[in-house]
Amino acid sequence: MAESMKGLHRSCRCAEVTAQAVGQKLTLMGWVQKARDKGSIIFVDLRDRTGIMQVIFENGSVSDEDFKKAGTLRAEFVIAVTGVVEKRRGEANPNLATGDIELRAESMRILSEAEVPPFPIEENSRTKDEIRLKYRYLDLRRPDLQRNLMLKSRVMMLTRQFFAKEGFLEIETPMLGKTTPEGARDYLVPSRIHPGCFYGLPQSPQLYKQLLMCSGFDRYIQIARCFRDEDLRADRQPEFTQIDMELSFVDVDDVIDVNERFLAYLFKEVLGVTVSLPIPRITWQEAMDRFGSDKPDMRFGMELCDVSGLVKDCGFSVFTGALASGGTVRGINAKGQGGMPRKKIDKLVEFAKGYGAKGLAYIAITAEGEVKSSFGKFMTEDEMKALIAAMKGEPGDLLLFAADKKKLVWDVLGALRLEIAKDMGILDKNEFCFVWVTEFPLLEWSEEEGRFTAMHHPFTMLMEEDLSLLDTDPGAVRAKAYDIVLNGNEIGGGSVRIHQDDIQERMFKELGFTPEEAHKQFGFLLDAFTYGVPPHAGLAYGLDRLVMLMAGCDSIRDVIAFPKVKDASCLMTEAPTRADDKQLAELSLKIAEPEGAEE
Ligand code: ASP
Repeated sequence: MAESMKGLHRSCRCAEVTAQAVGQKLTLMGWVQKARDKGSIIFVDLRDRTGIMQVIFENGSVSDEDFKKAGTLRAEFVIAVTGVVEKRRGEANPNLATGDIELRAESMRILSEAEVPPFPIEENSRTKDEIRLKYRYLDLRRPDLQRNLMLKSRVMMLTRQFFAKEGFLEIETPMLGKTTPEGARDYLVPSRIHPGCFYGLPQSPQLYKQLLMCSGFDRYIQIARCFRDEDLRADRQPEFTQIDMELSFVDVDDVIDVNERFLAYLFKEVLGVTVSLPIPRITWQEAMDRFGSDKPDMRFGMELCDVSGLVKDCGFSVFTGALASGGTVRGINAKGQGGMPRKKIDKLVEFAKGYGAKGLAYIAITAEGEVKSSFGKFMTEDEMKALIAAMKGEPGDLLLFAADKKKLVWDVLGALRLEIAKDMGILDKNEFCFVWVTEFPLLEWSEEEGRFTAMHHPFTMLMEEDLSLLDTDPGAVRAKAYDIVLNGNEIGGGSVRIHQDDIQERMFKELGFTPEEAHKQFGFLLDAFTYGVPPHAGLAYGLDRLVMLMAGCDSIRDVIAFPKVKDASCLMTEAPTRADDKQLAELSLKIAEPEGAEE
């Protein structure tokens, strides 16, 4: 039977007890990790969020009744034990923070009994994800998940502390609002009072934070929940958290400066890692040319090399054909991989095809310097030599080439570079390589829509020197937009905003908005700008991804208490669920049943 807390008071948490407490009488509470009954002595590992304390119940030290109770303990029972801290008589356990002490119980209460859990509560569980998520409240008892959420809590606390010191104000923005143009679908919330009308859950606080700048708050920060109804993709969550900020009277360098200091502070405080400042910056163009990605992993080289000029007259039609149709030929040098078995190279070719490549050409140089190539027979010896030299190929290297449209070649080699690095095991999770990627293109051509779309969002300012290009070559206009990238992950991004109405109008025109449409969607922001708007800029971090990398996890699920699965449902609560008829009637809604759905 579950006993009460009456008259009991917890002294501290399990692993907060140190050897200095030997001789003290303490009351600890927590979950039974393990109970071992050795007859006249019972060992219990007591667990809470800090760790484990070994408790011993010895016949004679506790009352007969409590000793009997101790004999009934099973995993996950919740108990309170009062006893004296002693030095461990048995061998110390070097794996536990409290490994050289134990609590000799004097009395005990069972606060709650427990069913046998569907999986053991232990680190690195091998239980299937579906089961773990269905019983997420049990999964969350595991020490690794507890550590992750504690780390996240600390990151949030330090974030608030840092930005408060820098003069930022924490201001909340609405959840029930108007849609924001971040490029994904909105989650809509029907209004009962306004039948047929909907609120949009924020994809980000973008418009509101810009309005706060118009109102004069000049430095805003918020740890903001955001919602994006995107198509199914692994490791995306429909709701996630941003560290969102906006600053007035600033340009690119000011935003970068305060954020570099923030990152250095955070990594030092949380992980003891020194981030050397300034963080390197590369332009988007350079990132694509060197790494084939706008979020380059800078922990290793294997950079892309443009060999178009070298092979333009060679006899290999895959190369010359790609060049003739306006494409490019580029390669990477996988150092030391020249001995890769043919089968594995074929796998890389398949991998490249997954990214749209028609194939992959290779040169493998054996340790002895022998050259084996998929296209050697189409090249003269001199051409081969020149190509290998351009790629800095040495005995033992594997050179891989893609020939196609530039964007495709970037994608293929960018992905291949990462795949090979993963395979070679050269990616160290404990190495943190930051880089700012700047000068993103302002616009991106959408084949689907037959027009330009904003690469960041419609309020992003272009580089002043590119203004005239807006008329002649819009695709070449660079934006005052920047991303902060960590180990190949975009952890944050932002931009300087347009605060001049003529440029904003021009931008809307480019994006295919009529003035009426622009006004209908963003009228309140455009109006606000007519009453005196400071130049402003901002940035938002994806908090979950940042914490995931800091915690060394592979999935953002591991740093979110109650995540959703790929189809945006929650396996524990079974949300989303159908609304009942009364609710629907109140909202003036009727469901158009999808075709084939059961009544
Ligand atoms: N609102 C942007 C985003 O969510 C970030 C920013 O521009 O501040 O990506």
